Amino acid sequence: MGRKALIIAVDGHSSCGKSTFAKAIARELGYTYLDSGAMYRAVTLWALEHGLIGEEGLDRERLVAALPGIRISFEKDPATGGNLTLLNGRNVEEEIRGMEVSRWVSEVSRIPEVREHLVRLQRQLAGHGGIVMDGRDIGTVVFPDADIKIFMTARPEVRARRRYLELLEKGERVTFEEVLRNVEERDRIDSSRAVSPLRQAPDAVVLDNSEMSIEEELEWFRKLLHEKGYGEKGDEDRH
Ligand code: C5P
Repeated sequence: MGRKALIIAVDGHSSCGKSTFAKAIARELGYTYLDSGAMYRAVTLWALEHGLIGEEGLDRERLVAALPGIRISFEKDPATGGNLTLLNGRNVEEEIRGMEVSRWVSEVSRIPEVREHLVRLQRQLAGHGGIVMDGRDIGTVVFPDADIKIFMTARPEVRARRRYLELLEKGERVTFEEVLRNVEERDRIDSSRAVSPLRQAPDAVVLDNSEMSIEEELEWFRKLLHEKGYGEKGDEDRH
């Protein structure tokens, strides 16, 4: 008998390494990794490119009307084996990670119609399980029955430092203070919005990785899997 195809939800604060962790556990289990934040970022990029974000802020009505025509999909990057985010068929993986998208994404993701549209897509993409999805509302709204729910966090300064170094490496001219403000502001908006606010599901397990390496996080996860009765990788397959 094969192992049950689990649904694993990884939620938490901005820039605390959710995607690094979620990708690593997906690789370990042979599961698909899905980055729900990339979808909110892609919609934000679309709005920026179509002039729906300007001096007066975001034009919510036009964005909502345009949603049926905004197609988001993923494909494997043949070079790295990682995921590429496609917006209407175009690879936008690089652009959606920039500071301009980060500045606006929490405004876009508080719109109920945007969330409904993307949650529907997230459920479709998850199919019958065997998936690790990271985001803000995966364990609370998208998959309230997920088999394993992890809520990740780390101190804001630690998160901002990691993000700052990432952005510098990509050649963005930002200051540490600017990145720290963005991280704290996104947490504030994400946690206080009316629809699907970021909060820990009652049955989620907290992972604070302020002082942890990715290897230590993986060790922690293997123990969790064991405690939940899912055993070592392949255990069930051998019986
Ligand atoms: O995970 P990432 O930082 O790329 O997400 C970008 C933004 O997308 C978050 O700050 C949040 O506003 C939004 N988001 C969300 N719900 C999710 C995933 C991301 O509202 N499930």
